[in-house]
Amino acid sequence: MRSWLLSVLTLALLFYSGWMISCGEKYPRPQNVLFITVDTLRADHLGCYGYARNTSPNIDRLADAGTRFDRAIAQASQTLPSFVSMMTSLYPDRTGVQFNASLLGDTGKTLAEYFGEQGFQTAAVISNPIIHNRSGLQRGFQHFDDKMTVRVFNRKAFEKKASHVTENALAWLEAGGRSPFFLWLHYQDPHGPYTPPPLYQRSFVNDPHYRAGTVLEVGESNWDRGKIPAYQKLPYERDAAYYIAQYDGEIEYLDRQIGDLLAGLESMGLKEETLIVFTSDHGESLGENNLYFMHGVSARAPETNIPLFFVYPPVFTPGRIIRTPVEAVDIAPTILDLFRIRHSAMEGRAVLPILKGKGAKDFFYTQSGSGGWERAFIFHPWKVVINYRENETYLFNLDQDPGEEKNLVSEEEDLLQNLLDKIPGRFIKKDFEQEESPLDENMRRRMKALGYLE
Ligand SMILES: [Zn+2]
Repeated sequence: MRSWLLSVLTLALLFYSGWMISCGEKYPRPQNVLFITVDTLRADHLGCYGYARNTSPNIDRLADAGTRFDRAIAQASQTLPSFVSMMTSLYPDRTGVQFNASLLGDTGKTLAEYFGEQGFQTAAVISNPIIHNRSGLQRGFQHFDDKMTVRVFNRKAFEKKASHVTENALAWLEAGGRSPFFLWLHYQDPHGPYTPPPLYQRSFVNDPHYRAGTVLEVGESNWDRGKIPAYQKLPYERDAAYYIAQYDGEIEYLDRQIGDLLAGLESMGLKEETLIVFTSDHGESLGENNLYFMHGVSARAPETNIPLFFVYPPVFTPGRIIRTPVEAVDIAPTILDLFRIRHSAMEGRAVLPILKGKGAKDFFYTQSGSGGWERAFIFHPWKVVINYRENETYLFNLDQDPGEEKNLVSEEEDLLQNLLDKIPGRFIKKDFEQEESPLDENMRRRMKALGYLE
């Protein structure tokens, strides 16, 4: 009797899965999501994006196991505006989050909220104090670990080291009964000041890629062009090459912890059935445009180009590199579509059709932080950048000049005018008043400690 029942059940199951496939289920569905983000991580300082230094062997291996997007941009070059746009798939003018001190109100719905509603276990382990339990990004998480454990060098603030993020994440997974899950891990390490653990401080100093000779002054504030921001000051050293070697050392240290995370995931048998998404919130200027060791001030390549890859071999072909441009708002609809979770009012577009050579977008938008004083409008291959504070306009051909070094404004006047006419009005900066939401005392202290407020 029992074996009869078992056979019927097996048949029913086979029939059901066959039906699922025949009814146009286009993509196999993963069970879990591991969403890994790294603060201030420039795409071009990773080996998988062509960096000459061996900063990221573990991340490179992970990228090779998935499909990597070669041209991905963040919506803003500052932490909170960027993440809020990524998690809600709304551009910054819709989220209303234009500053690190802003709070996401009831606007939009976050990825975690969608997964929570579907009965997933949702957890986040966060290491940047900008992402806290009132920012709005905590929405939808049953477990939101924003406890900061180590004092930041030069700042009256605390963060978490990468080893703690990995440990806490593995502990949460090991606690068991967690599947299916949506787990967001945010690693802070490459964010300044560049202070990797001692083991990683000499990795790249005086190596063949070390370009000594640009000795800088330390600025009075965190925002002086051509100077080391006050909060980035390291003892004894003023050479830009040393700072870049320390930034790369932070990436190398972080990469080791990502390696431990992936090993843990594998030993728990979770790797096969988990979609892994890897990206960052923004890059960092490392001397380009006379901006040293800062982000949030520009909408140019060093600050807005981010790594992005998806690992889930049944859908994302291992080792594939896609040149079609995408942006951070496209991440949430991609994940939700893959899980066949209905979503509405998202401004990004899933990248799944791009895997089949369809669905490329023709317009992209990014901005600096702090109200978006610099904004960029991309109609590939053309990128128009407007700096409203300095009243400057730039035009770049991203196919010929991905580093955005040759401004074509005077050579291509007609083209520029055409492009300016095409910019959707909502993205043009109109309000030059302080748009920041009023801060309570607690928040004001927090932002001051981090150097975002005078
Ligand atoms: Zn950030």
